[in-house]
Amino acid sequence: MKMPTCQDVTELASDYLDGRMGWGDWALMRAHLAMCPPCQAYVASLGLTVDALQHLSKEERAPVEADLSRIFQQWKSDPESLPDVGPPSADALDEG
Ligand SMILES: [Zn+2]
Repeated sequence: MKMPTCQDVTELASDYLDGRMGWGDWALMRAHLAMCPPCQAYVASLGLTVDALQHLSKEERAPVEADLSRIFQQWKSDPESLPDVGPPSADALDEG
């Protein structure tokens, strides 16, 4: 067992949010998130997105998750490169 890297977190985030990981992995995810604000923000934004994607198949979700992962990696390497916008509002997700 070892602490997951930020890359691991981006790859495991959807399993984490869906409760599809074991207790040990879950605890390590929590530990990483506790000390890594960028990963907290990533998982939080993915959490909102996963709710919206629940009815899509894994194959349909993959490109979206890859997109998020790419954006996250860019943000990690150059935090100034992205505009300062928050996650989508709950109101926006409630519509439709
Ligand atoms: Zn991290």
